[in-house]
Amino acid sequence: MFAEIKGLNEECGIFGIWNHSQAAEMTYYGLHSLQHRGQEGAGIVSTDGIKLKGHRNLGLLADVFKHGELKNLQGKGAIGHVRYSTTGEKDLNNVQPFLFHFQQSSFALAHNGNLINAVSLRRELEASGAIFQTSSDTEVLAHLIKKSQTGNFWDDCKMALKRVQGGFAYLLLTENALIAALDPNGFRPLSIGKVGDSYVVASETCAFETVGAEFVRDVEPGEILCIDEKGLHIEHFTKDTRHSICSMEYIYFARPDSNIAGINVHSARKRSGKMLAEEAFIQADIVTGVPDSSISAAIGYAEESGIPYELGLIKNRYVARTFIQPSQALREQGVRMKLSAVSGVIKNKKVVMVDDSIVRGTTSKRIVQLLRDAGASEVHVRIASPPLIYPCFYGINIQQQSELIAANYTKEEICQMIAADSLEYLSIDGLVEAIGRPYPDEPYGGLCMAYFNGDYPTPLCDYENGYVFNRK
Ligand code: SF4
Repeated sequence: MFAEIKGLNEECGIFGIWNHSQAAEMTYYGLHSLQHRGQEGAGIVSTDGIKLKGHRNLGLLADVFKHGELKNLQGKGAIGHVRYSTTGEKDLNNVQPFLFHFQQSSFALAHNGNLINAVSLRRELEASGAIFQTSSDTEVLAHLIKKSQTGNFWDDCKMALKRVQGGFAYLLLTENALIAALDPNGFRPLSIGKVGDSYVVASETCAFETVGAEFVRDVEPGEILCIDEKGLHIEHFTKDTRHSICSMEYIYFARPDSNIAGINVHSARKRSGKMLAEEAFIQADIVTGVPDSSISAAIGYAEESGIPYELGLIKNRYVARTFIQPSQALREQGVRMKLSAVSGVIKNKKVVMVDDSIVRGTTSKRIVQLLRDAGASEVHVRIASPPLIYPCFYGINIQQQSELIAANYTKEEICQMIAADSLEYLSIDGLVEAIGRPYPDEPYGGLCMAYFNGDYPTPLCDYENGYVFNRK
C-alpha cells in the first residue's frame, strides 16, 4: 500500500491454477497474497471445460468479490489479476483478465509488465482492421494471437509472443488449458508450483504458501508453458534470451517472504542494508527503517554497524485505499496519515533512517520532518539502492526522467531538499553483490540495473522512436 504514497508502482500480480475443484477460490487466495502488486482493480476468470466466465471490477480484491461473485465462477481452471496501471486509463475496461469471445472459442488474458512496442503494433493492427476495446497494451497480444491463424492455438500464441517486446508475464486461459509465458529477459518474476494434482503459476512464490502449494521451478526467459489434462508442458518461444530480472523486485516490490531466482527477498534486502553500513557508516544512537519494505535493510544496517535497531516509525495499516489517486497533494497528505514517528524512541536521538529508494523526494522529506517533529536531534538518511536516474519501460510507472529527483539534482541538493543531516546511497556494485548475482555469468549477475545506470537490456522501440514521448 505504501507504494501509492511513494509514487512507485508496479503494474500487476497474476495467479493461475489448473485441475482444482475450487479453482476460482484458490485464485482468490493466491491473488490476496499478491495484492501489494496492485490495488486499483482485480478480476478472476474460470473455465468449466465448456465456457469461460469472469468477474472483475475496480478496487481491492476483497471489495471486488464481496457479494459472493466467486460462486458463479465454477470449473477446474482459473486465472486472476490484480492491477496497478502503467499504461491505459484507470477504468473498468482496463481491469483484467480480459475475456475474448470468438465464434468457436474464447480465451482470457492477464498480463504483468509493459510492452515497449505496443503503440507501433497497435497502429499496425488497427491499420489492418483490428478494433481495440481498451487502452491497455495487453490487448495487443490477443489481436496478434487471433491474427496468427496457424490453425493451432499453441502455435498462434508462440507466433504472437515473438512479436511483442518489453516486460511481460502472461497468463492465458482457454476452455481446456492454462498457458503462461515470460518475456525473453525475464524482467518480471513468474513461478510454477504444485498443490496435490493441480499446477499453479504466480507472480511471486509467497502466493504458493497461501494456497498450500510447493514450489516446482521458475519460468525461464522466453518460455511458454501449457497445463492441461496431459500435465505440464514447457517450450521456448524464443532462444534469444538473457536474464535481466528487475532489481526493484528485490529492493521494493516483492514481498519479503517471496523467493526470486532462488534468492529470498528479505535476505537480499538485509544484505543491502549490511552493504550500505559498510559503504556509508555514520555514528548514531539508533537505526530505524521505513515500513514495510525498508525494515529488512534497516535490520541489516543495524547488525553491520552495531547501532541498535529501533521501531522508530509505525505504519497505520487501516488507511488502505484513500490514496489511490496519485496526485502530489494526496501523496503528501498520505505520508502523515500512513506513518507515525515514535517520539518515545526518537526523542533526543541521532537517527539513521534507512529507506529502500527515493523517487520524487516528497516522501523522504515528510518522513525526515516526522522524525524531527518527534524530537530527533539528527536524521541521517541511508538509501538501500543507488539513485534512480533513468526511467523504466518494463512495467514500473515512472517513464519520465523529470519525475525522478536524482535525475535532476545532486546528492547534496537532495539532502538539503529533504532537510536531512546527511544522505548516502548504496552503490550499483554493492547492490548487485547484496542481491547475490543469481546468474553470475550474465551482465550484472542476471539483474536489470537500467533504473540506476541507463543500461537497458533491450532496444526501447516506441520510446526511442518518439511514439510515446521524447526522452531527455
Ligand atoms: S528499469 Fe528498473 S524498474 Fe525497470 S525493470 Fe529494470 S530494474 Fe526494474
